[in-house]
Amino acid sequence: MKSEKCRVVVLGSTGSIGVNTLDVMARHPQRFEVFALTAAHNVDRILAQCAQFKPSYAVMASTPHGQALEAACRAEGLATRVLWGSDAIDMVARHESVDCVMAAIVGAAGLSPCLAAARSGKRLLLANKEALVVGGQLFMDTVKAGGATLLPIDSEHSAIFQSLPQDPRDWSACVDKIILTASGGPFRTRDPHTLRHVTPEEACAHPNWSMGRKISVDSATMMNKALEVIEARFLFGVAPEKIEVVIHPQSVIHSMVQYLDHSVVAQLGTPDMRGPIAYGLSWPQRLTSGASALDFSSMAALTFESLDTKDHRLRFAGIHLAWTVLQAAPGTPAVLNAANEVAVAAFLAGKIRYDQIHHVNQETLSAVTPEALASLEDLVALDLRSRQAAENTIAHLAT
Ligand code: NAD
Ligand code: MG
Repeated sequence: MKSEKCRVVVLGSTGSIGVNTLDVMARHPQRFEVFALTAAHNVDRILAQCAQFKPSYAVMASTPHGQALEAACRAEGLATRVLWGSDAIDMVARHESVDCVMAAIVGAAGLSPCLAAARSGKRLLLANKEALVVGGQLFMDTVKAGGATLLPIDSEHSAIFQSLPQDPRDWSACVDKIILTASGGPFRTRDPHTLRHVTPEEACAHPNWSMGRKISVDSATMMNKALEVIEARFLFGVAPEKIEVVIHPQSVIHSMVQYLDHSVVAQLGTPDMRGPIAYGLSWPQRLTSGASALDFSSMAALTFESLDTKDHRLRFAGIHLAWTVLQAAPGTPAVLNAANEVAVAAFLAGKIRYDQIHHVNQETLSAVTPEALASLEDLVALDLRSRQAAENTIAHLAT
C-alpha cells in the first residue's frame, strides 16, 4: 500500500536547490519522505543525505560515481539501492511509488527526467528552468497529456504564480503584463568597459542569493533573466511582449502581475529559496520554510531601474535575446540555452573571457537553424548541434 506521506524524488539533491529542498522537507517529517536522490559528482554529500533521509534509491549520473557511492553505502550499512546512468534517473522520476519530483538538476541534462515525471502525472516542482527553455511547448504539452501538476520553483515564477488568479482560465482575460524583477547581479554598477577582466569568482559572488555556479554567472550576465522570460512565456502561456523586466536591486519583490485595470499584485519575501520550495511542496496550502521574515521597519528603500539605459544595454546585452528567440522559429530558445551552457562552462574553466559569453551566444544563434521538433530526440539532436557550434566558436576565440 502507498504510504500516507508525500513521497518525493529530489533530482540534483547535492546542489543549492536540492539541499534547500531537503532542509524544508526535514522540517516536516510527518508530511514528506524521500523516495530517491540523484546527483552528478558529490559522492560525500549524497552519502550523508542517504544516511539522514534513508531513500529507497540513490542515483549517480555516471558509472564511476555510482560505483563509489554503492561501495560507500555498503560500508556504512545503508539499505539504499544505488543505481547510475541517465535511464536510472528517468526511472526514479517516473516510479509508480512517487508523488512529487523536485527538478533541481542544472541545464538541459534535466529535460529527460522532467518529461518522464510529466508523462507519469507527477507533481513536478520545476527549478530546472533550462529544461523548460529547451522543451518549450513540447514540455507543456507533455505535462498536460500526462495529467501532471507543474509548479514553479524559480522565485520570480513562484511569485507570479502566487500573484495570478487561482484559475488559469482567467489569466489571459485579465492580465495586462507580467513584470519580472531582476537584482542586477554583482556588476549592476560596474563600468561596463571593464567587464572583459571579470573573473569566475567575481561573477559567482551574487549580492543577494547563494546559488550554484552556472546560475550565478547567468545572473551576472542577466542570461538568467533571459531564460526566465522564456520560462514565463511557456509556464503562463503569455505573449512575449506582455513580459517585462525591471531591475530591483534589493530582491524583496520577487515579481509582479499587472492587471487590465492597472492594479499590480506582487509577492514579497526575503531572498531565500526555501520560501518558493515550501510553497511548491505544500501548494495549495502553506508550510513553514525556515526562511526569515521581512523586517519592514529596517528596510530602507525599494528601488527600481530600467534596463534601457546606455550602460545597462552594454552590461546586460544577453537579456534582449529572450524576446529575439521567442519571436524566431520554435526551437531557437534551445539553441540559445545550449550555447549559453557551453559558454558559461568555458568561462568558468578559464577558456574564454566573461564578455565573450554573449559573443558565443550570438554566433551560435546565427549558425544554427532549428528544424521541426516533434520529440525529445529532436530536441536532444538540436541541443547537441548547438553545443557543437558553440564549441566551434570558442575554438576560434583567443582569450
Ligand atoms: P547546482 O549546480 O548547485 O546543483 C545542480 C545539481 O544538479 C547537483 O546536484 C548536480 O550534481 C546535478 N547535476 C549537474 N549536472 C548533472 C547531470 N548532467 N546529470 C545529472 N545531474 C546533474 O545548481 P542549483 O543552483 O541548485 O540550480 C539547479 C537548477 O535550479 C538550475 O536550473 C537553476 O537555474 C535553478 N534555480 C536555482 C536557484 C538557486 O537559488 N540556486 C534559483 C532558481 C532556479
Ligand atoms: Mg529566478
